[in-house]
Amino acid sequence: MTGVIVVTGGSRGIGAATCRLAAEAGYAVVVNYASDGAAAAAVVEQCRASGAAALAHRCDVAVESEVVEMFDTVEAELGVVTVLVNNAGILHRQMRFDETTVERWREAIDVNVVGAFLCAREAVRRMSTRHGGAGGAIVNVSSAAAYLGSPNEYVDYAATKGAVDTLTIGLGKEVAAEGIRVNAVRPGVVHTEIHARGGEPGRVDRVAPQVPMQRGGQPAEVARTILWLASDDASYITATTVNCSGGR
Ligand code: NAP
Repeated sequence: MTGVIVVTGGSRGIGAATCRLAAEAGYAVVVNYASDGAAAAAVVEQCRASGAAALAHRCDVAVESEVVEMFDTVEAELGVVTVLVNNAGILHRQMRFDETTVERWREAIDVNVVGAFLCAREAVRRMSTRHGGAGGAIVNVSSAAAYLGSPNEYVDYAATKGAVDTLTIGLGKEVAAEGIRVNAVRPGVVHTEIHARGGEPGRVDRVAPQVPMQRGGQPAEVARTILWLASDDASYITATTVNCSGGR
């Protein structure tokens, strides 16, 4: 399946790698971002250099009106979305759970869970054969944190990814007969800027010895898994999650 792909958080890291690979595969690419317009514009240029149609769209995935407006804009400018990659995600500074605040939990849940819910709902409303759509695929970006739990780092973040896994199972089953496949990828430790946000820019190298493959992952390795799940090569796969974590 190609067509129109919306990648939330497409301006950096795993999302940017997914946008670039999607452009090479022939998709028209929507690079969603929250604040870094220059980074998003650079990814759009890279996609266009592959011959793909591409546009950047600023939208906070946690804000309902902005998400609805993004899907409407995409439909008007590129056509109906065929693939949604729910990739936008945040984590906070590493700390014990008993030091965390309700404001922090709410922000993580808003972006990582409500954001994924909102984008998935808008995609289903447009893709589902029940609503006159032509079907499609949703790939949620979860995390190995969902089964590791991230003790002493960010238990709250890990719990949001558990919710993403459950969304994948339930929604996948709910829309399986409506032309939509819903799957997820659980990256392990991957070389992106997200670890600096957690207060430890060198985290991937510290954790690498705990990874059976003895290294962190590259964004492109996760992107390839995402695009495989979105593709017709995964045509009989839905409501499941693939670990992309070097065996950890
Ligand atoms: P990253 O480098 O920090 O990039 C995050 C992206 O999300 C940026 O494009 C950012 O846009 C966007 N974003 C943040 N908040 C947003 C919001 N409210 N609305 C829309 N976009 C928003 O992160 P990454 O490491 O590539 O992570 C991507 C996904 O993989 C996340 O869901 C993360 O939890 C998951 N993951 C990552 C790892 C890892 O080791 N890197 C491991 C497991 C899972 P701006 O630049 O505009 O803020």
